[in-house]
Amino acid sequence: MAQSYFKQYPSKDGFYKEYGGAFLPPVIEEEMKKITEAYYAISKSHNFISELRSIRKHYQGRPTPVYYCNRLSDKYGGRIYLKREDLNHSGAHKLNHCMGEALLAKYMGKKKLIAETGAGQHGVALATAAAYFGLECEIHMGEVDIAKEHPNVVRMDILGAKVVPVSKGLKTLKEAVDSAFEAYVKDPENSIYCIGSVVGPHPFPMMVRDFQKVVGVESKEQFYEMTGEMPDSVVACVGGGSNAMGIFGGFIENESIDLYGVEPGGLSMKTGDHAATMMQGKPGTIHGFKCYLLQDENGEPSPVYSVASGLDYPGVGPEHSMLKDMGRVNYDMVTDKETIDAFFELSRLEGIIPALESSHAVAYALKLAKKNPQTSILVNLSGRGDKDIDFVVEKYGKDYGIG
Ligand SMILES: *Cc1c(COP(=O)(O)O)cnc(C)c1O
Repeated sequence: MAQSYFKQYPSKDGFYKEYGGAFLPPVIEEEMKKITEAYYAISKSHNFISELRSIRKHYQGRPTPVYYCNRLSDKYGGRIYLKREDLNHSGAHKLNHCMGEALLAKYMGKKKLIAETGAGQHGVALATAAAYFGLECEIHMGEVDIAKEHPNVVRMDILGAKVVPVSKGLKTLKEAVDSAFEAYVKDPENSIYCIGSVVGPHPFPMMVRDFQKVVGVESKEQFYEMTGEMPDSVVACVGGGSNAMGIFGGFIENESIDLYGVEPGGLSMKTGDHAATMMQGKPGTIHGFKCYLLQDENGEPSPVYSVASGLDYPGVGPEHSMLKDMGRVNYDMVTDKETIDAFFELSRLEGIIPALESSHAVAYALKLAKKNPQTSILVNLSGRGDKDIDFVVEKYGKDYGIG
């Protein structure tokens, strides 16, 4: 791939080949244009860059380490390395783009950050950023999710965010998006909608990618320093695709490095049992952009499921959709069972409890390692698993896989 990959994509109007764009009501389209202009003008400025660098170093604790998994590699073969985004402040990669979005909001003179959240991870990361910058924060969340994700609701409360319960329809993520959008449209002057992944209308997939690219840039340097070479493969889980785009960003221009995006295969390949968008989806439109989409005959998003609530989205980032068509990234999936196995393996062999989302990437790395014992694999460990432990032990038992 040409060195100019990042200059080439997206196009001026936010397209990655046929994917992406901003298909929106005219009022919002105007606002997206303003955000795009502000992003280009502000995010390349010296002040913005040095403030973001300082935040990453002193507040987030970056760079996060790259770690060689000794016991895991001994058991499965290959050489398995983790980029430790679980050690990023607040326990996942999400804060990388939330701090960037909130800093942009500050420079634009906005007073309030608005977003939806499903499992609550994005809500917590954004509430963290809002507290740091002294901005108001309003998180819209379905009532079903509020009941299910109690600890994250408490975190948002403690951080000073306002959690807005959504009681319409199925009372989950889709309705929360609509509700957050309505709130944003009422006051676009003072507020900004902060999207939680490389999805949504332009410029969000580009901005979130650019803010997450720090993960790839750091790990390329760290991996080289540790080993004197580049990894053979880089593996990340894909929900919307932000942690994957982040780490891929450091390696995409080097075509000799294989990139793997891992989707949730869930319980089976029946509709509603998985969220393997790249495997089973077709191009369609959701939330104002075009991408691969799990959809019914009428183009309506299909129901999705994953054991990792951060991965159950029927769409996927437009850039990933393009990279699939180009064949630059290999998209594949692992099942819930493989994911839970990997969750326990990493915990017991390395003393690192991974998020269930990240466990998908670890599971896939174990498969690659078994197939080729000579290979080196860098995994984006996107988050820590504290949020998942009660669920896992209740559902699978603490002695899972023993005896
Ligand atoms: C939200 C989340 C994901 C999925 O989001 P992407 O945009 O696909 O990266 C993955 N891992 C963790 C830990 C998460 O919290």
